Amino acid sequence: MLDPMTIVILAVLAFIITYMAVSAMKSRQEPLKKKVIVTQLKCSNCGYGERREFREGDYVGKEVGECPKCGGKLLVEAIYLEEVEGIPELRSAVSVPKSSQPQKNTGRY
Ligand SMILES: [Zn+2]
Repeated sequence: MLDPMTIVILAVLAFIITYMAVSAMKSRQEPLKKKVIVTQLKCSNCGYGERREFREGDYVGKEVGECPKCGGKLLVEAIYLEEVEGIPELRSAVSVPKSSQPQKNTGRY
């Protein structure tokens, strides 16, 4: 037979373990901020600017294509690290469904 004190201790331990497991899962999902290397592009002719993710071989001053506005030279103006908020698709997928449907009382008593 387990005495009541042991049961209480076991219950508290179970609670603590559950709490720790839940918080560990939460902290694992927490880092929604992601660091991304961004390449800033600029047209040498009209000043049109554009940003895109860094690609291998990018360097400041590199000609990466044509300006969509004037057809001039599009050059890499800067490369920097940017913190980006989590992927939006992931966030919307975690939306909680509303389970607050009014329960119908059929009154069958
Ligand atoms: Zn241009």
